[in-house]
Amino acid sequence: MELPNLDLLSHLPPRLLAVAERYLKAIPGVRQRLDKETGAMLAELEGSLKPYRQQVPTFSELPAHGRSREEVLQELEQLEAREHERWKDGLVSGAVYHGEDDHIAFVNRVYALHSQSNPLHADLWPSATKFEAEVVAMTAHMLGAAEANAGKPSEEHLCGSLSSGGTESIMLAMKTYRDQARETKGITRPEMVAPSSAHPAFDKAAHYFGIKLVRVPVGPDYRADVAATRKALTRHTIVVIGSAPSFPHGVIDPIEELSELARKRGIGFHTDACLGGFVLPWAKRLGYPVPPFDFRLPGVTSMSADTHKFGYAAKGTSVVLYRGTQLRSHQYFTATEWPGGIYFSPTFSGSRPGGLIAAAWATLVTLGEEGYLEASRRILETADTLKRGLRAIPELYVLGDPLFVIAFGSHTLDIFKVMERMSAKGWSLNGLHKPAAVHLCVTLRHTQPGVADRFLEDLRAAVAHVQANPSEEGTMAPVYGMAATVPFRGLLSDLLKKYMDLLYKV
Ligand SMILES: *Cc1c(COP(=O)(O)O)cnc(C)c1O
Repeated sequence: MELPNLDLLSHLPPRLLAVAERYLKAIPGVRQRLDKETGAMLAELEGSLKPYRQQVPTFSELPAHGRSREEVLQELEQLEAREHERWKDGLVSGAVYHGEDDHIAFVNRVYALHSQSNPLHADLWPSATKFEAEVVAMTAHMLGAAEANAGKPSEEHLCGSLSSGGTESIMLAMKTYRDQARETKGITRPEMVAPSSAHPAFDKAAHYFGIKLVRVPVGPDYRADVAATRKALTRHTIVVIGSAPSFPHGVIDPIEELSELARKRGIGFHTDACLGGFVLPWAKRLGYPVPPFDFRLPGVTSMSADTHKFGYAAKGTSVVLYRGTQLRSHQYFTATEWPGGIYFSPTFSGSRPGGLIAAAWATLVTLGEEGYLEASRRILETADTLKRGLRAIPELYVLGDPLFVIAFGSHTLDIFKVMERMSAKGWSLNGLHKPAAVHLCVTLRHTQPGVADRFLEDLRAAVAHVQANPSEEGTMAPVYGMAATVPFRGLLSDLLKKYMDLLYKV
């Protein structure tokens, strides 16, 4: 489809565009044309999303007779082997943060031992509640509990919960602030203020819990803009947010200044350390420049830190922490009148996976401080090598001053074409927009010998290729380019929903 001149449109006010978009979509011919075009685009994607249709049996109803365990295990092993090739050698950004065979085997054994346990039944599985309490305590200690708790009564000590992931940790914290502000201050139209770079989990929380999210543009260094954040505060603001570091550019927001803004107003401040919580404390100890970001700052009232990222646990756990049990109590849920009995649940889920909680606990206590320190050292050294190599490529530039998530763009080349060339060599990198860039989140996978050199070599070749063939179109690069610049964001959102429908197709 011929799109209208997008550059011109992108200068129009977003409200006007939204109205124009609604009118456009209401024109029958336009609607049909759009459906046809998006249908064709998705049909093309379907094959690559469903590679196993011809290779293993497909089920859209229960098999009448159960299949043999042997057969099913063989099939699962075959799929796993194929998929782990994608990340094992370190060609993937983020995704698998540890990935050593012996570690995975250990975590799997722990899970297998506790796969039936459920902390909802604390009487049956006191081990699950022990593991949860200790993961929370160890994480809190790593993020400043000793200093924050010193001389304080126990109800003001750091505390928290284990959740299913970073998104749940963030959503729990935002719901907690909403309920606290309603109960203690009568705020009924709550607002939260976050830099544009903060994770979409904050938009999701806003969407689910009826909170207005005010996004503030970041400064030229991609860090949150303190002055602009101050201006965005209103009497409805319940919490201010900063990332340590941000997912897109891997830079640490000025948490000290931001949290002081919040403290002076008597509102909450959440440090999103989903990504950095299990790296930054060790980076600091290793002598890297890490500004204060955790509970050692008096204004920080909650944090999220993902055990399932750089905590190296199995997927499905994260920690949310609060300053004081009073605040945490707004997270809790109780039902006292249900015929099924007295019911209470600290997080969104009712039943929870005791096996994953045990796996997180076992990961923390087997790595220990030494293990995290050594893992962080390897990751940060590899990141240093990569940054040096990247900065030596004249066509590229590194966005901001990152530690271990390195975003790079180009002033002269289409960076998405460079990314596409890298994909052809087997690399799976993250495409960013506003501005167009690509990032690599460095994990233990990239610390294997030769991986960093191979990345830089392939990148230099990709840049040279794009430079020598400026008119070569590529297949994914235009899609990324369009996703970044198309002014009709509602159409893009519709397309993403269709894409999700596709995921659920058998
Ligand atoms: C990954 C991440 C999240 C969300 O975590 P999930 O575990 O994917 O839900 C939130 N914030 C940051 C900075 C992250 O990197």
